[in-house]
Amino acid sequence: MTKKVLLTGDRPSGQLHLGHYVGSLKNRLALQNSGDYTCYVLIADVQALTDNFATPQKVRESVYEVALDYLAVGLDPALTTIAIQSQIPAIAELTIFYLNLVSLARVERNPTVKAELTTKNFGAGVPCGFVIYPVSQAADITFCKAHVVPVGVDQLPMLEQTREIVRSFNSYYGEVLVEPEAMLAEDEQSRRLPGTDGNDNKMSKSLGNAIYLADSAEVLWEKVRSMYTDPQHLRVEDPGHIEGNTVFTYLDVFDPDKAEVARLKEHYQRGGLGDIKVKKYLFEVLEAELAPIRQRREEYMQDLGYVRQVLEEGTRKANEVAAETLNAVKTAMHINYFES
Ligand code: ATP
Ligand code: MG
Repeated sequence: MTKKVLLTGDRPSGQLHLGHYVGSLKNRLALQNSGDYTCYVLIADVQALTDNFATPQKVRESVYEVALDYLAVGLDPALTTIAIQSQIPAIAELTIFYLNLVSLARVERNPTVKAELTTKNFGAGVPCGFVIYPVSQAADITFCKAHVVPVGVDQLPMLEQTREIVRSFNSYYGEVLVEPEAMLAEDEQSRRLPGTDGNDNKMSKSLGNAIYLADSAEVLWEKVRSMYTDPQHLRVEDPGHIEGNTVFTYLDVFDPDKAEVARLKEHYQRGGLGDIKVKKYLFEVLEAELAPIRQRREEYMQDLGYVRQVLEEGTRKANEVAAETLNAVKTAMHINYFES
């Protein structure tokens, strides 16, 4: 039986955070370890450059940060091909062909891109490359004919755009591409983990509200200590609210001891449980999950030569598959002039 293909990726715009971990990394790890999938993970530097074009050095450094995060959480290069987007020229070619299959009005309607446009400050104007990044993402997803894409909920419009492009391509040129499906985390809160600021923003590298997998225990405590809770919970004896209280959201997501979380919630709502106490508890819960990841990350940091080798080898493998897909695409489009 041929295996199904998994692809997903991350923008090297900084280090990976808890949102990535529960929104996408955990599903990738489960499918990687199931043995039922051929897995690709793309470090999407071309996409990161669409809004970080003025700071390429940051993108370059973040490629390594993201790779270190991958290895630290347990992505295994023997099971998952880790590749750098810009080093796979077939993706850029596919993007050019796909752009003809998407209207300007369609790219302007993408709700995630619209929301991002309001938070990013494109001083001199919105770069064309940014508005069309969902099309280049369709090329990322289809270069290896992915069936499943583990992502957070903000990526659903990208998956829909990709499926439309695949359908359109296949109807004009013949059945070459595969329609991918998004795979979301099981629980609602992990699909879009909120940031530490309580502003109803998702945790995001670009918004300064993230807890990073690489954060030291001291930084982790500082972030948890200053987290948003219930602004009306002024005195310990006051009853507190748990709805929209990020500390309890994180406990729901990260604490395996559901009975203890239920007990803490009840006590908090009744009054008599201080924020600092709950935060100390949350810190311990997160630290138990993050300490081993941090430890492995530090070990890989001592061996950047190995990390480079992983990226180089993964990119080489991805290029082989991408070249095959591009060939099939060009043949279907009748632009394989010098073959046969
Ligand atoms: P940027 O602000 O640069 O876009 P980001 O934090 O949104 O960075 P991405 O690299 O865009 O990170 O996202 C990588 C993957 O992680 C995507 O599948 C995305 O849906 C998922 N993801 C990102 N943030 C969250 C979150 N807060 N909760 C759940 N999943 C998330
Ligand atoms: Mg993002």
